[in-house]
Amino acid sequence: MNFKITLLPGDGIGPEVVAEAVRVLETIAGKHKHTFSFQERLMGGCSIDKYGSSLTDETLADCQTSDAVLFGAVGGPKWDDPNAKDRPERGLLALRKGLGVFANLRPVKVHPALADHSPLKPEKLQGVDILILRELTGGLYFGQPKMREMKDGHQRAVDTLEYYDYEIKRIVDLAFELAKGRKKKVTSVDKANVLESSRLWRQVATQAGKENPDIELEHVLVDTASMKLITGPASFDVVVTENMFGDILTDEASVLAGSMGMLPSASLGEAGSRSGSEARMGLYEPIHGSAPDIAGKGIANPIGTILSAALLLRHSFELESEAVAIENGVHQTITAGARTADLGGMLTTRQMTDEIIKSIEEN
Ligand code: NAD
Repeated sequence: MNFKITLLPGDGIGPEVVAEAVRVLETIAGKHKHTFSFQERLMGGCSIDKYGSSLTDETLADCQTSDAVLFGAVGGPKWDDPNAKDRPERGLLALRKGLGVFANLRPVKVHPALADHSPLKPEKLQGVDILILRELTGGLYFGQPKMREMKDGHQRAVDTLEYYDYEIKRIVDLAFELAKGRKKKVTSVDKANVLESSRLWRQVATQAGKENPDIELEHVLVDTASMKLITGPASFDVVVTENMFGDILTDEASVLAGSMGMLPSASLGEAGSRSGSEARMGLYEPIHGSAPDIAGKGIANPIGTILSAALLLRHSFELESEAVAIENGVHQTITAGARTADLGGMLTTRQMTDEIIKSIEEN
């Protein structure tokens, strides 16, 4: 099969890790007789430097007309001026909006051999395999009005937390769909004891639960969920929640895995949004940032980006066995003891990828 992938390596270590994920995708293409064509574009600080804009209309159009987008990271001290008229992160928000991706998926799995790198006790980490779905385009970050004013001699600031039922339904439905291929449990996280938007969230999730009687549904308040992520993370399977709760819980969950460099993410659009197919348009990226402290040294852990490429194959190309081949390759490589510096080892970015490619080729 032929697929077109737009690469947005971005800034800092972004280009270093994206280049390695491309090598892994080329290995898969060769082994499984697919053709992946890559087009590389600038986004973030590098795009501000060259075009004066963090995301140009042309780059967005190129992403929209490709089959999937693989992104590295953006940002760095050079573009940190809060008064600048454009910032690298703006490009990322505009890209998500332009691609219509509303569901951010963050799988968090703890490799047994890396349990020592996590701040939790190893026995708490046994069997941790969580998929968190965060709503990405609604809620407090986007609701209007959003403003500041002087009132009665004081500064007053307002953000608005707003959700429509259809925005909740599409992500809750996706959570149930994904739970079918896993341990068949959905945890819907809200704050229904206080927030009206959460009461609507719970109502929609409850209805979806009735439509999916084969899947266990539990409702957990966000404060309890944040505690349970530390006290009993193995009790979760699929977790679905609104934008701000998800923003916080996904970062909390990420520390379970021991290093930021290990974790992938996918941001997905509606079913059928990848043109000419039933699959979803997707933006795939590691969860870490541009890591300016190690950029250019060739020591970044490429695994988060390589596993993001596996998610790309699964969700946008529907190539499940190819996705599993990458995941198994990473698992076996870590089991065999390969480690980059963030995991206490000596391997460079390229050497770690070489090991993963070798493992994929041998299986
Ligand atoms: P960061 O994720 O870039 O780095 C945090 C720490 O983790 C650093 O010590 C870094 O060296 C380490 N680290 C991150 N990825 C690693 C990897 N693959 N291998 C080994 N070590 C790794 O977060 P930060 O330092 O807070 O942010 C740096 C820049 O990245 C900022 O400009 C920030 O705005 C930006 N950022 C971008 C994104 C994104 O593009 N999606 C996300 C977060 C932060």
